[in-house]
Amino acid sequence: QKARIGVTGLAVMGRNLARNLARHGHPVAVHNRTSARTKALVEKFGGEGTFLPAETPERFVESLERPRRLVVMVKAGGPTDAVIDEFAPLLEPGDMIVDGGNANFADTRRREAALRDRGIHFVGTGISGGEEGALHGPSIMPGGSAESYEALGPLLEDISAKVDGTPCCVHVGPDGAGHFVKMVHNGIEYADMQLIAESYDLLRHAAGLAPDEIAEVFRTWNTGRLESYLIEITAEVLAHTDVATGRPFVDVVLDQAEQKGTGRWTVQTALDLGVPVGGIAEAVFARSVSGHAALREAARSLPGPSRGAVADSGFADAVEKALYASKIVAYAQGFHEIQAGSAEYGWNIDLGAMATIWRGGCIIRARFLDRIRAAYEADPHTPTLLTDDHFAEAVGDAQDAWREVVATAARLGVPAPGFSTALAYYDSLRADRLPAALTQGQRDFFGAHTYRRTDRDGAFHTLWGGDRTEVSA
Ligand code: NDP
Repeated sequence: QKARIGVTGLAVMGRNLARNLARHGHPVAVHNRTSARTKALVEKFGGEGTFLPAETPERFVESLERPRRLVVMVKAGGPTDAVIDEFAPLLEPGDMIVDGGNANFADTRRREAALRDRGIHFVGTGISGGEEGALHGPSIMPGGSAESYEALGPLLEDISAKVDGTPCCVHVGPDGAGHFVKMVHNGIEYADMQLIAESYDLLRHAAGLAPDEIAEVFRTWNTGRLESYLIEITAEVLAHTDVATGRPFVDVVLDQAEQKGTGRWTVQTALDLGVPVGGIAEAVFARSVSGHAALREAARSLPGPSRGAVADSGFADAVEKALYASKIVAYAQGFHEIQAGSAEYGWNIDLGAMATIWRGGCIIRARFLDRIRAAYEADPHTPTLLTDDHFAEAVGDAQDAWREVVATAARLGVPAPGFSTALAYYDSLRADRLPAALTQGQRDFFGAHTYRRTDRDGAFHTLWGGDRTEVSA
């Protein structure tokens, strides 16, 4: 018997993905550099379906039906290249290598081009949902050729999460498109988490609520428009009591957030594409600030405002509005980045479909994503989600509360970079005139960089060092 698909790299993600495939009735070949993992998988979970264990790459490849579908789930970076170098010589034209790791989309583009020359389909695939998702149904974002999706799509859709019967898996676009979208998904996840963290911080230090009371607030929010996996687990974490000390769990965890890199890539890529993603950037920076222990220690004695907490009963509702509005901004920025990446690389990504496949399986799954899908259905080419009828109304309705929350945070000295940058972005977009005109004047003054005028076409320069007449540049 041949396997329909194979998985190499059997750490948490690969093992669970292989089990998911087997549980769906797909005979799956399994291989790992260290064969103890392969044996352990078959011993422990062999009863869940048909596993074909292989000790060597050669046996692994032989056990696959053709065209071969080979999923690589190893550590991203060098290990992925090492595994490709090992397996590609064993494959034939028409075979497919699916990289399900968290690869940088630029690496995926490079690998896809190199393998395309040899007739092998390289399918960079974003997989979200952690180990639970991999086992029970992740959100899957495959890139690569349309031809490879014909052979892979049905299998991937079969094991993906489903929402209202729709699989959380769609062909994103050629070469690096899948990993690009997964990267932005993670960037949005950073922003979403940061906004939730700021909401907690404000409820705690501006409204004076205790962690278990804040857990209740989040539980209530989770029954409304903010309903999402992240809000749900936030309530769980806040309600948790540390067993060793009896204190709120959130008070015994070191307040230094870590990161693996996809948030940073999202921001770096946005800078390259010239897309403003302040909400995501501030989330990455907020983690970075938290980790600078010596810097924070040195600055701890700096003065803060003299006023204490404000226990206004309406404050939690205001924070809910600020959170919803800021979340809309963060998603609008993330989708703008996908739109820009799609244009830059010619991927033709269906933005509404991205919102659809994030509704289940992944970390940012939320009721809210249906709204994004609807917004792109109404206008596939909208320059920003913010002007969609629903979102414009929601933000308009929230804005007074949002401003009040940002002002309260500033007044009380509670850092709220996510809320603040989101509001500044909103106000920048809706401004009649931006001070960029002054910036242009300065640039022309010190560097003769020229400027354009509102009333005439062309580029101009003022003779700042001379008689200040204007000349055409
Ligand atoms: P790890 O990232 O911890 O990688 C471990 C696996 O990589 C092992 O199977 C290991 O083999 C293999 N490996 C490492 N170096 C090499 C090499 N040079 N040659 C061959 N194999 C090698 O595993 P995870 O399961 O956590 O993640 C797998 C991929 O999925 C990663 O790219 C990760 O970023 C991505 N991902 C992870 C998520 C998560 O929640 N963990 C979520 C979504 C994506 P050995 O046993 O021999 O050491």
